[in-house]
Amino acid sequence: MHDILALKELLREPKEVMITTHHKPDADALGSSLGLAGYLKKKGHRVTVITPSDYPAFLAWMEGNDDVLVYSEKNDALVQRIIAESQVIFCLDFSTLARINEMGPYIREAKGTKVLIDHHLEPEAFADLNFSNTSAAATAELVYDVIKAMGDGDMIDTSIGECLYAGIMTDTGSFRHPSTSKNVHLIIADLLQIGVNTSNIHRLIYDSSTELRLRFLGYALKDKLVVLHDYKTAYIAITADELKAYDSKTGDTEGLVNFALSIEGIVFAAVIIDRGQAVKISFRSVGNFSVNDFARKHFNGGGHRNAAGGMSLEPLDATVAKFESLIPLYKDQLLSSTSK
Ligand code: 5GP
Ligand code: MN
Repeated sequence: MHDILALKELLREPKEVMITTHHKPDADALGSSLGLAGYLKKKGHRVTVITPSDYPAFLAWMEGNDDVLVYSEKNDALVQRIIAESQVIFCLDFSTLARINEMGPYIREAKGTKVLIDHHLEPEAFADLNFSNTSAAATAELVYDVIKAMGDGDMIDTSIGECLYAGIMTDTGSFRHPSTSKNVHLIIADLLQIGVNTSNIHRLIYDSSTELRLRFLGYALKDKLVVLHDYKTAYIAITADELKAYDSKTGDTEGLVNFALSIEGIVFAAVIIDRGQAVKISFRSVGNFSVNDFARKHFNGGGHRNAAGGMSLEPLDATVAKFESLIPLYKDQLLSSTSK
């Protein structure tokens, strides 16, 4: 928080502000962005939230969602103009500009003051002000802490609180990951105090599946799950045709990887999906085994020690073969990574 005085100074007068977050925003990415946007608007700033891609429909209830600008080739010129004209550019829930696709170079070259608020490992040094804390459970937790440190805690209303709650709830795996600190619980107590309907948010996010999504989950677990007991590893690979057959929408595969990780004794899980332009991979682990390192080293990705993502431009089969061939190299690390 050592940049908080500079941030206070920066936001003293109403400014043109833009906020962006990572590709395929999840609840923390969008929730922290819209929570911050709600607060900055209350302070009199003009705020535009731009996402580098679309995001799941189960996040659309958030206040401010209707004003989000989703980048596409068609609005490229408009996005470039907004970025160039912004006096302050907030970058939330990502640590490298590669995570925002086409918008990365525009932001790198932008003249506005860049403010990073993030909890991913190994942040790139591109911002002017940095609120990076890799031990924070969620970027939404950091946004809450920043608003408090600005002396504006009383500006957090239920709409802002709901957005922040969604980010913290999902990134902590509903308060079960080791990142779920005392600070997290104190924030949640405060959000309850101001009237945030926590169980409703849980339902909006987790209990909004279509029938087909649930059947897809059943199919993936029954027919596609591969368990490599000798390496405490489990993975699921999904073809583009399977996504199509189940009419899979953005966000429909979220959480699938956690089922693979929930098998007793498994410490490393992956979901490998053919997304057409690229194969996307979600990695999860328990214990010391760092999926951040694994994703960085082999699949152009990164994230956190126990949750990371990556990609491959090779076909699905080749990507799965590469993944399988790497596993034995990590045998010792995997066997000593304890799930206890
Ligand atoms: P998920 O598997 O849910 O997409 O992502 C898990 C974590 O890894 C999230 O914190 C996400 O921001 C991060 N992540 C996902 N994909 C990538 C990627 O391609 N590169 C990097 N650096 N991080 C990623
Ligand atoms: Mn996050």
